[in-house]
Amino acid sequence: MPRRYSIQHWRLVVQILALLLFTYLLSSGRNKLWMLIMLALLILTPLGGRLYCGWLCPINTLLRPVSWLRSKKAGRPAPALPRVRWISWLRVTIFILFLLLFAMTLRGMIKINLILILAPFAILTTVFFSAAVWHRYFCPFGVLFSLPASVSRWRFRINPDLCRACGRCQRVCPAGAIAVDEPSAKTYHILPRYCLSCFTCQEVCPHSSIELTAARPDSSRAEEKARPPV
Ligand code: SF4
Ligand code: SF4
Repeated sequence: MPRRYSIQHWRLVVQILALLLFTYLLSSGRNKLWMLIMLALLILTPLGGRLYCGWLCPINTLLRPVSWLRSKKAGRPAPALPRVRWISWLRVTIFILFLLLFAMTLRGMIKINLILILAPFAILTTVFFSAAVWHRYFCPFGVLFSLPASVSRWRFRINPDLCRACGRCQRVCPAGAIAVDEPSAKTYHILPRYCLSCFTCQEVCPHSSIELTAARPDSSRAEEKARPPV
């Protein structure tokens, strides 16, 4: 019998509640409390991965309807970002700028909310490209979380003995976190630094090949060599 409520339903509920909490804290002038929640989740990232990004981030929650509407309207997958060299530089520049603004905000030199500033850019990016472009290349919070996430203990893994290389998980991953070995296109890997712990891939895999498991020490290197889709 099919499950009545999937993890995706619960994730949506958590995301909406987190968005409401964020809005409440912002409107009552207590947005530092949100920063504390984020910091706590950042500290836990080496253990459980990017749970903040996948389950709490208000920007990610806002991107869900944007992605959905765009894919409904276009009727085909959103384009990936063209592979150009300056993207890495742009990513680093945005991140440095973000760190400067973050430090200035913490010291009380300026009063801005970085999430509010970034949200319109995230929405605009997702109108034209796949949401993975924002998550992987432009979101400075994403870059921050990706550093500890690359060593996260608990992570999603594709069991090569069960995987039939259908590519379904890669097509639904909102973060472009599933890479495939080239040129064979037969071995899929989940890259923990990009994974948002959203469980979408696990739910769509027709062969139950995706497991949430504690990392094996030698696994990350092979995964990082595989080519990601965006
Ligand atoms: S959906 Fe499952 S079987 Fe298909 S490529 Fe992904 S892990 Fe392999
Ligand atoms: S790899 Fe799976 S759990 Fe991670 S972001 Fe992609 S779909 Fe979600």
